[in-house]
Amino acid sequence: MTSPEIRQQFLDFFKSKGHLIVPSAPLVAKNDPTLLFNNSGMAQFKDFFLGNGTPPSKRIADTQKCLRVSGKHNDLEDVGFDTYHHTMFEMLGNWSFGDYFKQEALTWSWELLTEVFKLPKDRIYVSVFEGDKKDGVPFDQEAFDIWKAIVGEDRIIYGNKKDNFWEMGETGPCGPCSEIHIDLRDADEVAKVSGKSLVNADHPQVVEIWNNVFMQFERMADGSLVPLPNKHVDTGMGFERLCMAIQGKQSNYDTDVFQGTIQYLAQKAGKQYGDEKWADIAMRVIADHIRAIAFCIADGQLPSNAKAGYVIRRILRRAVRYGYTYLGFKEPFMHELVPLLAKQFAGVFDELIAQEAFVAKVIYEEEVSFLRTLSTGLIRLDKLMEDCKGKVLSGDDVFELNDTYGFPIDLTALIAREKGLDIDEAGFNKALQAQKDRSRKDAGASAEDWMIVREGEEVSFVGYDETQTVTQVLKYQKVQNKGGVQYKVVLETTPFYAESGGQVGDTGTLTFKPSGITLQVLDTKKENDLIVHFVSDARIEQVAADAEVIASIEVSRRRTITQNHTATHLLQAALQEVLGNHVAQKGSLVNEALLRFDFSHFQKVTDEEIQKIEQIVNAKIAENIPLMEERNVPIAQAKEKGAMALFGEKYGDFVRVITFDKNYSVELCGGTHVPATGEIGLCKIITETSVATGVRRIEAITSQQAYALLSEQEAIISELNALLKAPKDLVKAVASLIEQANSLQKTVANYQAKEIGGLKTELMKQIDTKSGIPALIQQVSVPTADALKNLAFDLQTEAESLFCLLVAEIEGKASLALAISKDLVEAKSLNAGTIVRELAKEVQGGGGGQAFLATAGGQNPAGLNKVLELAQNYL
Ligand code: ATP
Ligand code: MG
Repeated sequence: MTSPEIRQQFLDFFKSKGHLIVPSAPLVAKNDPTLLFNNSGMAQFKDFFLGNGTPPSKRIADTQKCLRVSGKHNDLEDVGFDTYHHTMFEMLGNWSFGDYFKQEALTWSWELLTEVFKLPKDRIYVSVFEGDKKDGVPFDQEAFDIWKAIVGEDRIIYGNKKDNFWEMGETGPCGPCSEIHIDLRDADEVAKVSGKSLVNADHPQVVEIWNNVFMQFERMADGSLVPLPNKHVDTGMGFERLCMAIQGKQSNYDTDVFQGTIQYLAQKAGKQYGDEKWADIAMRVIADHIRAIAFCIADGQLPSNAKAGYVIRRILRRAVRYGYTYLGFKEPFMHELVPLLAKQFAGVFDELIAQEAFVAKVIYEEEVSFLRTLSTGLIRLDKLMEDCKGKVLSGDDVFELNDTYGFPIDLTALIAREKGLDIDEAGFNKALQAQKDRSRKDAGASAEDWMIVREGEEVSFVGYDETQTVTQVLKYQKVQNKGGVQYKVVLETTPFYAESGGQVGDTGTLTFKPSGITLQVLDTKKENDLIVHFVSDARIEQVAADAEVIASIEVSRRRTITQNHTATHLLQAALQEVLGNHVAQKGSLVNEALLRFDFSHFQKVTDEEIQKIEQIVNAKIAENIPLMEERNVPIAQAKEKGAMALFGEKYGDFVRVITFDKNYSVELCGGTHVPATGEIGLCKIITETSVATGVRRIEAITSQQAYALLSEQEAIISELNALLKAPKDLVKAVASLIEQANSLQKTVANYQAKEIGGLKTELMKQIDTKSGIPALIQQVSVPTADALKNLAFDLQTEAESLFCLLVAEIEGKASLALAISKDLVEAKSLNAGTIVRELAKEVQGGGGGQAFLATAGGQNPAGLNKVLELAQNYL
């Protein structure tokens, strides 16, 4: 059975058991402060377990893209070394939200594995939770009884809290679980050692494939467990491991999921997969990492220096480094794998094939830049090893290489070993820990438990239609972050728009009755599916239980934001019209000051293109196109209308469609929009820049701000007009002014040259030979210090041999130039530099130069006479 068939059979099986099949959520987590990446199938359903919101069906199944490289679940260091942990993997899952429970879940998993997939029953072991006294959770008798009837007591293993109590994070839903393990060893090994003894013992061929979690509790911030209102089932099966089992392989990498990329790499490196330990590891690392990188970028997360972007950059560097060291790839190579993957996942995760060229280009640029630091890092490492006093490279050095050049510790160790050096691993870990502590302190966030004020689950947003509403507080939470203590407040109904889709959150006030207290709302954000109002006033603790709250947004701010948001839609459509259909949104920001739109495009947008785009947008504004807003449109229908969905964005089954002229702009959008485009008044593009490889950024302003900019510019023009005495054509007038100035400058220079020529002739006649040395020591009148120097130099060149000191008063300052013929310099050991410096003291100045030509300047022209007098002494 091929891997696509296996995936499909899983989904079909649960469909036949009444499950709704849903798409995978994006890899990069949105609206969840506790997660950077989706790390399990249930992450997108977390809210349903917590009782916020209602699932579209009580039974759901899907395949979810997961990434386990940070936070509580981090498998990165195992990847490539073992054969069954990946960075990105697919988790096949089925869920029951308060519907079926342990009986159905376990029976179905057995049916699917043994009857549909025909896995051998005598190779399967299951586990149940043995209980934990400290947490007050009992032995899972129910799961035990169900399994006993299916597999018999001797195939059941008792699992401890670490293996059999599943928790999503530090807080949140959790519960006991039952794992299914499979023994894939050869028959003769099975005969020697029982599979049961190898379960949960990190044996590469006795692995967990499926985990059935029974969600019964919520873990609170203080560590206690509170029963959930409804009991749920949450299962997750590693797709790649399942393929290994069904295809009779002993490594995930031997399945068709990875063989395409592995064979490509082997061929490129001129090696055989399976021949050399380190080359094999490198191929596994690369084949694994390219998936994580490509899908993250396709989901809209570009490599960067912070947070999720940095995680991706590190994964990429790890892969490049393995290729560089063990496969001899000194040139970018990862990007070549993108087309293979795109094709492999077409029809499953289409976001990759749709953006194939873009993803490959981003990866290519990252590779180029890392390969550059990689070689500078190698030079740095050489130097460090050279300077190393003993036989051990210090932890700080290893850390520097890691931090600055992205060198993983094992790379440094390997190279050091070649030079007979060890590395101080403990010192490295210490430095690393210190950095982690620093960044944890920076993040510095902590939160107390939610204070529930009133029962209520559904939170409704009325901000499309109202700016003020009367409501009540459902709950609030005290949090500590960089900005100090803040409160997150959840209301039953709210007009406050929570930051999303690039539009910033609303600000405004909450007025409590009967207490009469008004609190400022500083920001509004979405967390999971809740709308959270941020308040910094501690009085919320006293008034939260008040009978009512009047929630009002700051209307004028919202109006500008709204105008900017609609202008963004008009802009996007204009960009596609002018630049082409490859233009896809890569990020946006809409606030009360401006709108910013990032999009994929490989060249700079030219001035003419900008002009055209601006023209189209303003024409659409002038047309005063009315807003067509449709809520709760089935997603398929919205796509039919031509609405473009963003990659990396999670959409429900029903979406909101915003249309301004169905032939011009149709978008899926949750933001706020003007009733008709005329309200925007005016849109002005102010910058066009590059943000990342293949991504351009346009910033623009609208309405009042655009008007203010234009009137500022107009004021400048009027001022110029007045200065130039209102010429008919301002541009021509300025151009001719510049031309005139240039030609005047030329004329003046000519005159000066002539004048100096005459002066030179005159001076030549005055050379004084009385002292035996031909000398010219004089004050002259020239316009610049340069002219003085040139004059002295020319005189010295033209005369046979000459000591020529010229001084002048130029713009109130003293200037000296001394030129001495080379023969004099040698014969009399004179040095113009030293002499001029000495003389300059008389004018309170300094100078210098070469032995035959030097200059000086000074503040006091009155001293020039004395200079001329003293100069005689050198003759
Ligand atoms: P393990 O102990 O093998 O790391 P786990 O206990 O972390 O697994 P769960 O969190 O229960 O796994 O995830 C459910 C299923 O997802 C597992 O049974 C396994 O098949 C799969 N899985 C978990 N982590 C990975 C990974 N890094 N790569 C591939 N598959 C994984
Ligand atoms: Mg794990």
